[in-house]
Amino acid sequence: MTGNREIEIEAGKEILLSIIVPAFNEEEVLPEFYRRVSAMAEGIDAAAELIFINDGSTDQTLSLLQELKAGDPRVAILDLSRNFGKEIAMTAGLDHAHGDAVVVIDADLQDPPELIPEMLRQWQEGYDVVYAKRTSRAGESAMKKFTAHIFYRLIRRMSRVDIPPDTGDFRLLSRRAVDALVGLREQHRFMKGLFAWVGYPQKAILYERDARFDGETKWNFTGLWNFAIEGITSFSILPLKMASYVGVFTALSAFVYGIFIIFQTLFYGNPVAGYPSLLVAVLFLGGIQLIALGVIGEYLGRMFDETKGRPLYLLKGYQPADRPSAD
Ligand code: UDP
Ligand code: MG
Repeated sequence: MTGNREIEIEAGKEILLSIIVPAFNEEEVLPEFYRRVSAMAEGIDAAAELIFINDGSTDQTLSLLQELKAGDPRVAILDLSRNFGKEIAMTAGLDHAHGDAVVVIDADLQDPPELIPEMLRQWQEGYDVVYAKRTSRAGESAMKKFTAHIFYRLIRRMSRVDIPPDTGDFRLLSRRAVDALVGLREQHRFMKGLFAWVGYPQKAILYERDARFDGETKWNFTGLWNFAIEGITSFSILPLKMASYVGVFTALSAFVYGIFIIFQTLFYGNPVAGYPSLLVAVLFLGGIQLIALGVIGEYLGRMFDETKGRPLYLLKGYQPADRPSAD
């Protein structure tokens, strides 16, 4: 399917690259981010539009963006009505991207913009999704690295979708991959999974992840925990199945144990009433049942959210990039 794209390029039409940047309280890093992205954009053989999504920032992010926009017609600003979280912010960006290829990148310079030319090259080779896979993560706690490591492996095992490990959201998507993603309107968006769900030829390029340039990570432990639950429940129903397997297993063990007690009583009598074993069995089963209910609740809650069919986000403002008219 790469044929179409080559024809497009041969016809001499300039390629448009959209760069999507979700930003939530990123005033410390935006000027430097803009400097590095502009420098990168000079070096590529494509026009660029830079779409910033202000995800309900409470600092000077928006006014900084306005300044950037005043000085650069390639800048577009999507101003969300409140903080919707990075997954939704990215979706808003994808919805408004015009590019033949679209790059999603963090504002904090943990994803080096200098990788984009290489991504473009791979895209021109015919890959639809070119994702940046980190070989190391600087400036992150051992705990975060460890839990991230476990999480990526766990979700790969649990889900039928092949989610690449050690890969963030930093990636380039072809137009048809973006169109496919834009068609997925679920409320609970685990983007790493959705990117993989789309399929199409995918290619990894390796890089070393830098520490944040400035400012602070917006994640804390609860945030990451919820993110992990989101990922698992969006892409696997294994926990639901587990509940029934565990149920069957406990029921069987109880049955076997019951037979054992009957024979024991018949042959040896039962001098002491079985109070401890009774209590253990009751507590054990109660626990299992609560866990199973909790698991069902996680899925039910998500179904509840989806059935409401609310829009994914609301915009307070949209200032598109002034693109040279396509002729
Ligand atoms: N972000 C966002 N909305 C949020 C949280 C984060 O748009 O509610 C953006 C943030 O501005 C940054 C990117 O998502 O561009 C990654 O955030 P962060 O660096 O805090 O995450 P980490 O790199 O620690 O995973
Ligand atoms: Mg970061």
